Amino acid sequence: MSSAFSGSFTQQEPISEEGIEAAVKILRNGRIHRYNVLEGEDGETALLEQEFAEYMGVKYCLAVASGGYAIATALRAVGVAPGDKVLTNAFTLAPVPGAIASVGGVPTFVGVTEGLVIDLEDLEAKIAQTGAKVLLLSHMRGHICDMDALMGICNAANVIVIEDCAHTMGACWNGVLSGRHGAMACYSTQTYKHVNSGEGGFLISDDADLMARSTIMSGSYMLYARHKAAPPVDAFKDIRYVTPNISGRMDNLRAAILRPQVRELDKACNAWNERYRAVEEVLASTPGMTLIERPEAEAYVASSFQFLLLDWSEEAIDDVISRCAARGVELKWFGGAEPVAFTSRYDSWRYAPSEPMPKSDRVLKGVIDMRLPLTFSLEDYALIGSIIRDEVSAVFRAQSD
Ligand SMILES: *Cc1c(COP(=O)(O)O)cnc(C)c1O
Repeated sequence: MSSAFSGSFTQQEPISEEGIEAAVKILRNGRIHRYNVLEGEDGETALLEQEFAEYMGVKYCLAVASGGYAIATALRAVGVAPGDKVLTNAFTLAPVPGAIASVGGVPTFVGVTEGLVIDLEDLEAKIAQTGAKVLLLSHMRGHICDMDALMGICNAANVIVIEDCAHTMGACWNGVLSGRHGAMACYSTQTYKHVNSGEGGFLISDDADLMARSTIMSGSYMLYARHKAAPPVDAFKDIRYVTPNISGRMDNLRAAILRPQVRELDKACNAWNERYRAVEEVLASTPGMTLIERPEAEAYVASSFQFLLLDWSEEAIDDVISRCAARGVELKWFGGAEPVAFTSRYDSWRYAPSEPMPKSDRVLKGVIDMRLPLTFSLEDYALIGSIIRDEVSAVFRAQSD
């Protein structure tokens, strides 16, 4: 009988004792709202913003209620108005087109390459075709495109880039942290991302005007001077009268849990990458499987693993997924006709009409995705990899017989 794996793919690491103590302190003093601080006290949220800004090497940081909220706020800050087309990745998750739709924008999808990044040729074509002035770039599943080339294209066409770094917190392109290329960048601190406060997010930028607008929108009232990583009060002088409050603040309890995690982020990134490489090594040269080539300039943070079963039939892919599931390995398939759990395809977001993209459809039909929880050991990942390799090989051989 073949071996099976028995770990839970949705179990995250516990909050550290340091985080628990910090959270309990907030619970005991009851000052959970970010602006509920004592005279002379900064508050956990303001300190978290300052620390994340330092980590990112950015001037300004705003902590908010969710990653999706951070994206919608960025879109509003750069001036996306109802009816405006906003370019975004065809390969991404539902909160991305959802954030565009939430501000009345029209998601306009750009294709995906076999490297699982945005197709720069298609990006140029879609910019020319639509005249869109904003790109919401999703670094989906941590795959980073050639950012120098992308910024070249967007700068030449005066397209503002907002980066969705929900899967690239701590990652780099050519030595520059992911989120430091565009005008603004958004992060999620939701349980299944790189730091865990249940829900939450960050918005960062070097642009004082965009960040002052975002701060007022997040629900700062006239208390923005209490932020430690916000633009100088001068930046608020005029915009405070004309910027609506669209409440979405982070609170001190979540911030208290996050501060130690930001300090440990690089360590966690290394642990994910070790696990990624352990799986990659076992899967190398599996018949019928295409692994994703990672460019040298990309320093990824691989909290998940993808591979392609290009041109496989739906039945064969289903077969692989159920055989792996029977041996305890949870794979997700982005190519299914119907959206399931968190997976869905651009053509399943029917509020955002799209034209067929045959090259992208071929890739999307073959994308298999697996979480890499830090709660599994390297030995666990060697076993997981061997189970996937066995089952993909077996189904592939049966197909070609
Ligand atoms: C999770 C996620 C978001 C949204 O983050 P939330 O904090 O859940 O709102 C945005 N983009 C991508 C790619 C995500 O995976």
